[in-house]
Amino acid sequence: AAKDMGRNGVSFFHSDMEERSLARILLENELKKAIELEQFHIDYQPKLDLSTGQLIGMEALVRWNHPELGRIPPDKFIPVAEDTGLIIPLGEWVLRRACEQNKKWQTQGYPHVQLSVNLSARQFYQPDLLDKIKEVLTMTELDPQWLELEVTESIFADIDHAVTILEEIKELGVHTSIDDFGTGYSSFSYIKHLPVNTLKIDASFIRDIHHNKESQAIVKAILTIAQTLDINVIAEGVESQEQLAILQEDGCNQGQGFLFSKPLSDQDFGAYLQGLRITRS
Ligand code: C2E
Ligand code: MG
Ligand code: MG
Ligand code: MG
Repeated sequence: AAKDMGRNGVSFFHSDMEERSLARILLENELKKAIELEQFHIDYQPKLDLSTGQLIGMEALVRWNHPELGRIPPDKFIPVAEDTGLIIPLGEWVLRRACEQNKKWQTQGYPHVQLSVNLSARQFYQPDLLDKIKEVLTMTELDPQWLELEVTESIFADIDHAVTILEEIKELGVHTSIDDFGTGYSSFSYIKHLPVNTLKIDASFIRDIHHNKESQAIVKAILTIAQTLDINVIAEGVESQEQLAILQEDGCNQGQGFLFSKPLSDQDFGAYLQGLRITRS
């Protein structure tokens, strides 16, 4: 029996491995080409003030539309880009393009909203990160206060180093937030020393907040701590009125999610801003 199992097991194992690494190599090569050919574009998802319904921000989310393979979701290619280091040129491209776009809308007289750009841990720890940010801000003439960088808790594997970099970013006048908050290395003892502006409560806590007492308790605890430390909180992945009602009741003032809007193309986001300009004036 062992022999049979071994034979089948081994051969299945091998073909699976080979298949996976082949797909992986293909994806890596395609990603390299895509960066050279600039096959990417950026969608923008609104962030809202939950008490007034006002637009307060926009998150840049990179999109890859491959000519033959179609749309490849970020959850598929960002990890590959991170492993291979391709996230460095790609991330730089996203930062520059998104800052350019935000500045363009400001220049056109649309309501000014803060732009959030996701920064992977690999980018965060690049020695020339600060120079790159400064360079982009200078080139695009975007005032630093309109830029926020979203990092994940994975950067806190080295807390002292992470705090140093966060402080340097803060000195530039650029804001920071912790994305997917509550799913990673969080320990309340170090949050105390954290120079960040905002915590983004991970969508997994919002998903069942209306059914699950534990999730609601976690959200409440995050809100309480953030309030004491004078840090903003935003809920991500808000999809329903029930979830929104609980968040409002618990005092969460900012949100993002399909209930308000999916990520929009630059044309659609521009139209949305133009609509706001008309209604606000
Ligand atoms: P994230 O930064 O946490 O972004 C939120 C993700 O949730 C986005 O997926 C967004 O489209 C999706 N989302 C927003 N509202 C809802 C909702 O109500 N329900 C559900 N089910 N989903 C919602 P997306 O665009 O596929 O991006 C996935 C992840 O890929 C991002 O998670 C981020 O970690 C990464 N990513 C995207 N763009 C970039 C980028 O330019 N640079 C880096 N380093 N990472 C990026
Ligand atoms: Mg994000
Ligand atoms: Mg997130
Ligand atoms: Mg995420």
